[in-house]
Amino acid sequence: MTGRNKPDPALVKGWCPGALRPMETGDGFLVRVRLTAGVLSADLAQELADLSRRYGNELIDLSQRGNLQLRGVEVENLGPLQDRLADLGLLDRDAATEAVRNIVPPPLAGLDPTAAIDGRALCAALETRLAEETALHALPAKFGFVVDDGGRLALDDVAVDVRLSGVKTADGPRVLLEVAIAPAVWRPIAVAPVEDAVDRAADLARAVVRLRDKDAAPRRMWEVAKTFGLDALFEAAGFGETLAVVAPLAPRLCGPEAVLGDHTHAALPFIGLGAPFGRFTADQLALLGDLAGERAIGEIRLTPWRAVLIPGVKPEKMPRIRPWIAAGRFVFAADDPRLAVVSCAGASGCRSASVEARADGETLAPLARKLAKSGMTLHVSGCEKGCAHPGPAAVTLTGRDGAYDLVRDGRAWDEPTMRGLTLEESASALTDLAPF
Ligand code: SF4
Repeated sequence: MTGRNKPDPALVKGWCPGALRPMETGDGFLVRVRLTAGVLSADLAQELADLSRRYGNELIDLSQRGNLQLRGVEVENLGPLQDRLADLGLLDRDAATEAVRNIVPPPLAGLDPTAAIDGRALCAALETRLAEETALHALPAKFGFVVDDGGRLALDDVAVDVRLSGVKTADGPRVLLEVAIAPAVWRPIAVAPVEDAVDRAADLARAVVRLRDKDAAPRRMWEVAKTFGLDALFEAAGFGETLAVVAPLAPRLCGPEAVLGDHTHAALPFIGLGAPFGRFTADQLALLGDLAGERAIGEIRLTPWRAVLIPGVKPEKMPRIRPWIAAGRFVFAADDPRLAVVSCAGASGCRSASVEARADGETLAPLARKLAKSGMTLHVSGCEKGCAHPGPAAVTLTGRDGAYDLVRDGRAWDEPTMRGLTLEESASALTDLAPF
């Protein structure tokens, strides 16, 4: 194992893992692979499926920011895995560069004829700037950007810090810059020519770094805005008080409901396949690679909605995937109750768990769906580490000593309102919480 490959114990416990900075979880190390503009080639899908079989536990997460995470990597396999990722061009020069490349791309970047801008090119340019401007490496770990090309699919629900959206104006395409003033609540601040958009985004990011020098506490844009005020942020970024007026973007489709299923008869054909509980097996990823390579344009697109898209599939090419969908191996329908639940592997896949979180999540999914008509409402966690979903959920069931503690509107490690529930008692508690 080379020095590069040795995991630094001081680093691996963070919540923002990468390939150079793997995170230790109950089922081994988690190695996150960040793909530029969310584009996964068919060949690369096969490679990653193979690496997951060889060095991991054949489970691959699709993260909420559209990254792939190989799970269950033993410490002695980290070096060989990183070496192979380097061969594939998937390893950054250092952990700081890797960590700052936090961009959620438009799922159909570069393919959507209705888009205002080329989102793929903008993602690549922003990524290059973040990697090369080392002053920006001081951004807090979770600080992120979203690029929305203004096309068919919106990214309104993605809780990152700065949003760059393509807009069509009378003067041609422009980029609207917005900052988050609360999770997924946006404040427009400037409109820039496309060629200046990366500079303006870097100005904002630099301002955050500078302001945090004075007070290291705020980590997300909405916290920075609250702590220092928007005026101070704009001044530090050199934006003045400005905001050019743009017409609001027309409402567009957003979320898993917008992409799951068969869209092969649309002008831009694709199929949307969800990862049950946010996780594929190596075999599923390999199948997606087969489909994309043999029956479509050779690309898989990752989304932040626990789903991938295979663009360019023709309706007559669908039969091979049908048996997998029929067997429930992919989420294909927008009303699939599994979309309401996120869970970790549980006792079958992790030595820290005392409950079968994944299987129990599946059992509870119909009840979880009754808590709200859309979105994720239930997190079933094998233990208080909450690996599968570090954020809050409407209801979290945290495994402890073979039973569940129930947390309302909180995280796996928050104070529970009920303790020591069996699966049946958990189901009963969920039933009581449902609004009808
Ligand atoms: S949350 Fe789940 S995967 Fe993470 S350590 Fe606990 S049991 Fe394991």
